[in-house]
Amino acid sequence: MRTVPSDKLIFSFSPKHKPAARVRIKELVVLRTKDAFGGQIKSSKDSVETLDWSKVDGATGPVFIENAEPGDTLVVDIVNIRTPSKGVIVTVPKHGILAEERVKPLTKLVKIRKGHVEFNKLKLKISPMIGTIGVTPEKEILCGSLGRHGGNMDVKELTAGTRLYLPVFVEGALFGAGDVHAVQADGELCVCAVEVASEISLKFSLIKRRHPEWPILETKDSYAFLACDETLDAAARNATLVVVEALMREHGWCFEEAYMFGSLQVDLRINQVVDPKKGVRAMISKSHLKLASIIV
Ligand code: CA
Repeated sequence: MRTVPSDKLIFSFSPKHKPAARVRIKELVVLRTKDAFGGQIKSSKDSVETLDWSKVDGATGPVFIENAEPGDTLVVDIVNIRTPSKGVIVTVPKHGILAEERVKPLTKLVKIRKGHVEFNKLKLKISPMIGTIGVTPEKEILCGSLGRHGGNMDVKELTAGTRLYLPVFVEGALFGAGDVHAVQADGELCVCAVEVASEISLKFSLIKRRHPEWPILETKDSYAFLACDETLDAAARNATLVVVEALMREHGWCFEEAYMFGSLQVDLRINQVVDPKKGVRAMISKSHLKLASIIV
């Protein structure tokens, strides 16, 4: 088992970063991560207005995966996500989907006990997920952003027991992850979820010389195509196009037939509407599509 401590913190995915660790395929890797604020918020009196924003949106890494080469797919199995007994939620003026509403800064520290977040008098079941998870593209990109390499995707279904397929762009893939949320809903409306430090256990494997166009999430029953763009409309188009093309390959259908079938069986869901790019996932049952038609 390899452990990468939380002080191995990167704020960009860059081919110039030196690896924090080198790992082998199938080796259990534990990443200790700071919360999205770099642990700066310790009490409800700590406002986002006094934060050092250069310490926000970091990821632990980068992890060099042996034998990963450009053109491959990095397969990431999320084995476990451990969360601590408290988390932080904030509102940030001029951010979130209601940014026009003169939002004031509010900081809320919440307890996490017996698998539940305590929000005022309400208890919410936790479902820990990884907000930022990705590999390094050819050109440096901030960890707070997102794209075909993954990054700050904030997909609530990136939980333990799921598998993520990422296209590899540089030797060793240079993987990083952080920004874990104990609970988040689709949209991440106010730009923040229950932000927590964490211990993420992962295993890596590779598919050689084939890769998906966008990150692919595999759950027990479904594949989800994770696309993004400047607007939700454009993100939805990107996600739809790749699933329609995969259906054409799988079934030998023409574009129009695959498009029709998508209308019947593909669910478009919002990942988040608050990051530098908006994210949409196109979900389809595994009974309609095999991985070989997705990763080509
Ligand atoms: Ca995030």
